[in-house]
Amino acid sequence: MTRQVQTIPLSRPDIGPDEERLVLEVLRSGQLSLGPMAPEFERRVAEYVGARHAVAVSSGTAGLHLCVRVLGLGPGDEVITTPFSFVASSNCLLFEGARPVFVDIDPATWNIDPGRIEAAVTPRTRAILPVHVFGQACDMDAILDIARRRGLAVLEDACEALGGTWRGRHAGTFGRAGVFAFYPNKQITTGEGGMIVTDDDDLARACRSMRNQGRGESGGWLDHERLGYNYRLDELSAALGVAQMQRVDEILAARARVAARYHELLAGVPGVRTMTWPPEVGMSWFVYVVLLDRGIDRDRVMAALQGAGIQCRAYFSPIHLQPFYRERFGHQPGDFPVCEDVARRTLALPFHTRMTEDEVGAVVDRLREICVRSRCPR
Ligand SMILES: *Cc1c(COP(=O)(O)O)cnc(C)c1O
Repeated sequence: MTRQVQTIPLSRPDIGPDEERLVLEVLRSGQLSLGPMAPEFERRVAEYVGARHAVAVSSGTAGLHLCVRVLGLGPGDEVITTPFSFVASSNCLLFEGARPVFVDIDPATWNIDPGRIEAAVTPRTRAILPVHVFGQACDMDAILDIARRRGLAVLEDACEALGGTWRGRHAGTFGRAGVFAFYPNKQITTGEGGMIVTDDDDLARACRSMRNQGRGESGGWLDHERLGYNYRLDELSAALGVAQMQRVDEILAARARVAARYHELLAGVPGVRTMTWPPEVGMSWFVYVVLLDRGIDRDRVMAALQGAGIQCRAYFSPIHLQPFYRERFGHQPGDFPVCEDVARRTLALPFHTRMTEDEVGAVVDRLREICVRSRCPR
């Protein structure tokens, strides 16, 4: 029996009747910005992760930018971060003229290797910006310990990790601030959107002002206390966020079920390694990424999967090797060998809440066939 495989998408947002109802409610209310939905979304995220404040913004990138500005990171300052991430985690430093200092990753977790951080600290280092990659929290004990001893701020890029935990505490709540993102492939979506979380009253106040053109809390529409931006989250997006947060446990559980199915089926596939994490980590699945053996040609595997209607993506491409980073900072291939090796071999497979067991099975069957055929000649 042959089963015809239709296109299986890389990701797909989980939008239901509650999302439709709340968005329609906003449309009919006529209040499309600065209404009640954004504060409600903020309350729900703050309560869910256990933070004093949540500040909704127009994207994860906007949230990171505001935090970098409020922390006063600028020209002459160095910030330690990972090259194995989405480019925004490091671009947010360039926006303000601060310098990203990359540290190679741990080959087991694919997160910044805490054991290498101290060697990168200089008198100019001001902060550490860890990224919780693919929904796996970084070793926050080690990172906070270094930050405390060296007097550094910690800003967490938790854009891929809503719901992820380290020793039971939510990713994004360890540093001075953490940022989540809600692009359609993230755990929950608002279309475009992001959220800053912090326990720091002053930081939250400054972010609220700066996302809203620098307006003060009590001043008028044309009173601007500081340089600000328009990084507000509109009410339609916030309504989506409220509906998604009402179902966040169900959404994360569905993602965990699909991941568990992949794990089970991939265990028997030679040449394919699945993600691993230490016992302190509570995973929140963002994407489902596998690591191929060095003897397998990843690009041939990708082409063959795509030819079979299975979307996939090389995740990530190292930040330090992006053309403008190479030009500006002189980075070369070989600078961060663990990151580069992992980046050459990782592959994101189709992953979303509504994937059926049959679809996961079809992806794994194809991957097994293709991997056997694509072993590079030695
Ligand atoms: C998605 C993402 C961002 C940026 O989020 P946007 O909402 O797309 O701006 C930042 N960092 C990481 C690691 C991400 O995955």
